[in-house]
Amino acid sequence: CRSRVHSGCVRAEISYIMVKPDGVQRGLVGEIVGRFERKGFTLRGLKLFTPGKELAEEHYKDLSQKPFFKDLVDYITSGPVVAMVWEGDGVVKSARKLIGSTNPLEAEPGTIRGDLAVQTGRNVVHGSDSPENGERETALWFGSGSVEQWQPALAPWLRE
Ligand code: GDP
Ligand code: MG
Repeated sequence: CRSRVHSGCVRAEISYIMVKPDGVQRGLVGEIVGRFERKGFTLRGLKLFTPGKELAEEHYKDLSQKPFFKDLVDYITSGPVVAMVWEGDGVVKSARKLIGSTNPLEAEPGTIRGDLAVQTGRNVVHGSDSPENGERETALWFGSGSVEQWQPALAPWLRE
């Protein structure tokens, strides 16, 4: 583990971030990855593939009773996504701010959705909504323990 409190370990906070199929089709992968890189978070995992229905349904299981659930699953499974894991203190909340509101028309300019999208059903990117879901979604999309552990050489220039 990275840091210790008393005799226990504190796990580094991670968020599961995904460029959705519209973001991949529109050629926005570099733009979106770049925003997290430039912010100073650490990339721990990244892969491009088309998710199956079961995976999409499990990922969005909390929304299974919503009227848009079927459309949401069809959207997420409609083509390749870029699945990523990003690490850093406060990364979950900060990533949600960088991403912006669910409805891109309400998202602030400067955010990914605010700058790059116009509709809730095509909002180009996903970000975990809690550290617990960051862990859950990472295990779901990457399998537990399968993301890379590494120390960026720039770490002392990002965190005192
Ligand atoms: P998020 O955490 O900001 O992504 O938003 P939610 O967790 O509430 O919803 C998950 C995803 O479902 C959103 O990012 C949208 O892609 C989709 N979604 C949410 N609400 C609606 C809706 O009212 N209509 C449609 N078509 N999609 C929705
Ligand atoms: Mg959500």
